[in-house]
Formats: sequence, C-alpha cells, structure tokens
Amino acid sequence: MRVAVVGGGPAGLVAARELASSGFEVTVFEEDEVIGRPEHCAGLYSVSGLRRIAGLERRFLLNAIRGAVFTSVRGSTFELRFPHPVAVVADREELDRHLAEQALSAGAEIRLGTGVVGVRRGMRHSVVTKEGSSEFDAVIVAEGMSRRLTRSLFGDPFGRPPLPIAQFLISHHGLERDKVYVWFERYLDEYFSYAVPIDEELARVGLACRRNVMELARRFLKERFPEARVLGHYVHSIWLDGPASVGLDGSVVLVGDCAGQNKPLTGGGVVVGGLCALAAARHVAVLLNEVRDGTYRRLVRGIYRDLNWTKRFRDWASRRIDPSDVVELAAEAGLDDVLRRVGDMDMHFRTLLMSLPNPRGLMFLAGLIRSLLL
Ligand SMILES: Cc1cc2nc3c(=O)[nH]c(=O)nc-3n(C[C@H](O)[C@H](O)[C@H](O)COP(=O)(O)OP(=O)(O)OC[C@H]3O[C@@H](n4cnc5c(N)ncnc54)[C@H](O)[C@@H]3O)c2cc1C
Repeated sequence: MRVAVVGGGPAGLVAARELASSGFEVTVFEEDEVIGRPEHCAGLYSVSGLRRIAGLERRFLLNAIRGAVFTSVRGSTFELRFPHPVAVVADREELDRHLAEQALSAGAEIRLGTGVVGVRRGMRHSVVTKEGSSEFDAVIVAEGMSRRLTRSLFGDPFGRPPLPIAQFLISHHGLERDKVYVWFERYLDEYFSYAVPIDEELARVGLACRRNVMELARRFLKERFPEARVLGHYVHSIWLDGPASVGLDGSVVLVGDCAGQNKPLTGGGVVVGGLCALAAARHVAVLLNEVRDGTYRRLVRGIYRDLNWTKRFRDWASRRIDPSDVVELAAEAGLDDVLRRVGDMDMHFRTLLMSLPNPRGLMFLAGLIRSLLL
C-alpha cells in the first residue's frame, strides 16, 4: 500500500521512516532541492526527546546544554543548572539529512524539488504536483508553517497568524557555552529574546514578537551583544497557540508545524512534532492494515493535553502578570531546586503540576497568586 508524505522536514521524515520500516511504499515530496535548507531553527532539543525521534549521533551534535538563565526586565536572573546535559544544540541541516538517510535506508523514496500543489481526497487520494498526479492510500501532510495544503484540506483550523521571529548567527557572544539564555525586554511585551551558544565563539540569537521584529531584533543585538559580529540572519515564524483539533483521523492527516504541534512557551516543534509523527505513522499503519481509525488521536492525547493546558495557563497568566515577575518569583522561591528534579523540557504544564507538591513549588505558586491578586 502506498503512502505520500508532503514535506521533508523532521516531522515528515520521521513518519516516512516509520512507515517504510513497516513495509509501506512511501514517497516523500519535498519542494526544496536540498533536505534541511533553508535553515530555520535554533537547533535546541531535549536529550530525551531527540533520542526518541532520531537517536543521538555525533554527526549532528554541536554542543551540550546543562542550564538556562532567565533575565527579567529589571536585570534580576533565575538560573537553572543541571549536573548533566539536559539539552543539545544540533546542526539542524545535518539532523534532517540524517533523518532522510534513515527514511531512505528503510525503503522510502524522496522526491526533491517536487512541490505538491494539491491533494484530492477519494477512495484513494490524488497527490498533485506540476508533473502530474499519483494515487495513494494515505497522505501525511507535513508542510511546516506554510500551511497551504492544510488550509485547502481543513479550512483554517487556527484562526490567527503565526508569530514572526528573527534569528541571527553571531560570533564573539561572550556567554557561557553550556547555558541557554532568555531575556524579557521592556519593549517585547510578553514575548522573548534568546541566545543558544553553538560553541565558545558562535551563537544563534533571536527575538520573537508581533510587530517590528527586525527593528527590535537589531536593538536587542546592539544592547545585549555590542561586541558581536553578525554572520547571517533571517526572519521566519513560530507557532505558540496550541495544536489543531483536525487532521488526526482518517487517511489524510497533519503532522508537525502545520498541525500546530509546537510548545506554547517557546515554539519548539522538532521533538513534539517528531513524537506526533511517530503516532501518525502508527495510526496510518493500523488504519491501512486493520481498517481501524482513531489511533493518532488516542496516542497524542497526552501531548495535546499538555500543549493545550500550557497555552491556556500562559494566556491566563500573561493577562495578569509580567513574565519578569515570574522570573523573580521563581528565583525567590528557589524553584531551580524543584525543576532540577521534575523538569521536563518538552512537557511544560506537566512540569508545573509536578512542582506543586513541593514546598518550594508551593512558595512559587503562593507568590504567583499574590502577584495576580495585587
Ligand atoms: C528561528 C526559529 C528557531 C527555532 N528553534 C527551534 C529550536 O531550537 N528547537 C525546536 O524544537 N524547534 C525550533 N523551531 C521550530 C522548528 O524549526 C519547527 O518546529 C520544525 O522545523 C517543524 O518541522 P516540520 O517538519 O513540521 O516542518 P519544516 O521543518 O518546516 O518542514 C516542512 C517541509 O515541507 C516542505 N514543504 C512545504 N510545503 C510543501 C509542498 N507543498 N510540497 C512539498 N514540500 C513542501 C518545506 O520545504 C519543508 O522542507 C524554530 C523555528 C524558528 C523559525
């Protein structure tokens, strides 16, 4: 039986690898000529998540991260430090190439430079490219943030545009290489700026906000990295508003950024989208082999619950409290001690719940409630 995967990013490639390994005839359609380009990622992934979706291969690992520093608008910091690496910085192009090689060796075909212009549903589905159309038993749409096919197949499941983000590659960052950095700037409202060191010399730094993203990114660079040299930059978009409830059933499904499978606090989507791609592949296999629907929806229930509750909590809290106050409350309550034990880089709401039974977690919650009521 034949399965089409539209999009050769991490979500599509993970799904393609899994289905090809299970014996399906898989074709990946990728509109760009090269896998992994153009790059649009800071390359920061949890060790546990990356291990599950791709394995940890020396060829794409650039740096190990043991901590994070959050700085409030008033300059106070909350620092998290772990005794071992909890995250890695990867070469995203190399990671995608590795996933493509895994898919190819499992038997998938990858058609580069072949954009899909339409998917027509039927008993079998037609995947339409400029060269013509072919028939498939199932289609996995993994087209990333462009969401063109997503809209034509499912309407607009999101109702708002993604968040613009500008990212720079700089040298001479002057940061500690085993930490990532987040700043809440006065001019960013509830959004954030960040730095992810690649080594002692190079770092990816960026800023996400609704308006004037490039102008504010230049200001951020000038103020935070006056000595740095800019080696490159681009503007793209990230998604912070939770997953779509469509595209989880039947033989045409969505995975990755086009399904909104991104963490609502950071926009990170490689691990979450990859885990959902494992579920989507399992779903398609069960549907085609046993004619049983519902596997995808069931397998992603826990992930979706976390993404949806994190988004609700963020929306509720951001209307009432400044993110900088949260940074200061976390430092005052000694929340680092709790997060070291229960922190999960990918499941943020679960981390919040797991922190509460601890006295320091309760102290943080009490401070939060006090700030919300004042
Ligand atoms: C600046 C920035 C920094 C980020 N940093 C991180 C980070 O540190 N960690 C993290 O986890 N996430 C990060 N993200 C998010 C992460 O990049 C995405 O979540 C991830 O790329 C999603 O993977 P995907 O496979 O769904 O989509 P993509 O990686 O976008 O892949 C989609 C693919 O589909 C192809 N395509 C699109 N339409 C068609 C079509 N019609 N026909 C054929 N091919 C098509 C595209 O060419 C593309 O190759 C960042 C994003 C940005 C913008």
